[in-house]
Amino acid sequence: MPTYEYECAKCKYKFEKMQPITAAPLTRCPKCQGRVQRIISGGAGFIMKGAARGAAEKSGGDCGLQRTGKTCCGRDERCGKPACGDGE
Ligand SMILES: [Zn+2]
Repeated sequence: MPTYEYECAKCKYKFEKMQPITAAPLTRCPKCQGRVQRIISGGAGFIMKGAARGAAEKSGGDCGLQRTGKTCCGRDERCGKPACGDGE
């Protein structure tokens, strides 16, 4: 069972959670109930620093692309990563 690392976009609390690969990613910080983002680790160099700043909170949990024209990463087009919360 892989261990996933999460970071809260609100209070910056980092934690790890062991989950089955089929489990849905966590979305809520255990400390402040803010939105958490799964950190993709493993040498891919794919950590999105501060990507979810502000935008994720406004979209209220899922990708805001369709509503606001911006993804949670602040991009204009879908980034295609599960971190956006789009689809699931
Ligand atoms: Zn938090």
